[in-house]
Amino acid sequence: MIITVASGKGGTGKTTVAVNLALSLDSVNLLDCDVEEPNVHTLLHPSDIQTSPVTVPTPIVDQEKCTLCGKCAEFCQFNAMFVGKTKVMIFNEMCHSCGGCVIVCPEKAITEVERPVGNIHESDIGNIHLVYGELKIGEPIATTIIHSVKTHISKDGLNILDAPPGTACPVLETMNESDYLVLVTEPTPFGLHDLAMTVDVVRELGIPLGVIINRAGIGDDGVVNYCKENDIEILMEIPFDRHIAELYSRGVPFVQEMPEWRQKFKDLFNHIERLIKNAK
Ligand code: SF4
Ligand code: SF4
Repeated sequence: MIITVASGKGGTGKTTVAVNLALSLDSVNLLDCDVEEPNVHTLLHPSDIQTSPVTVPTPIVDQEKCTLCGKCAEFCQFNAMFVGKTKVMIFNEMCHSCGGCVIVCPEKAITEVERPVGNIHESDIGNIHLVYGELKIGEPIATTIIHSVKTHISKDGLNILDAPPGTACPVLETMNESDYLVLVTEPTPFGLHDLAMTVDVVRELGIPLGVIINRAGIGDDGVVNYCKENDIEILMEIPFDRHIAELYSRGVPFVQEMPEWRQKFKDLFNHIERLIKNAK
């Protein structure tokens, strides 16, 4: 089972929900797919971490064999190659590792080498097996690392995925194949705006979804009314609470200090599990 926690923008409490939900259940595979700014581990403080590199095939040109015919640059859809007067240049950041240039080169002058673009980290913390990816600074293509994180999805167990913020490719890559989406928002006009944008995208994917309102009590009724009008279930409301905010500012998941919330998250999971079963 794959439950993805997402939000239209950062700072809404998405990671807090993913972590508190995971801590409230028995055995969870928790995957942080926010590879540009992973922060699940900052709440769980893993100690024994295994790290493995993520690499992508990247072309290199043997300038001795190259006749500067230009076929590689002509083929490349991503403008990652430039054929100059004396040599071919490759812009690694723009390369999508499609391998096409290797095939089209008539002189067999292009080969591929593995280039590191980030890392995957793994650790066990109590009931949680944590996997998080980290994109190298300067590397633009997050989806490669997200894909690597998702290879750690357990087929038989429960997987909770913390998605990157926004509605762009990395979010869709994360949500893809999910059984259920939990969208976390705030009851403010900004929260509503981002929620509506995310719902529009998610509805295209056809994945069932529900909303958690974080910092309930601030703002207005816009999100509640929107959910009613669009037949979206509000799964939980987390109040704007001084104690929760203070724990958050200290990097402490609030279920660890407020055990009554563990049952609420357990109930939330049981409810989502029923919704997933009924949808199948
Ligand atoms: S591998 Fe694909 S994307 Fe990269 S340079 Fe070659 S053709 Fe362009
Ligand atoms: S296709 Fe091959 S031979 Fe032609 S410019 Fe590119 S690398 Fe050189």
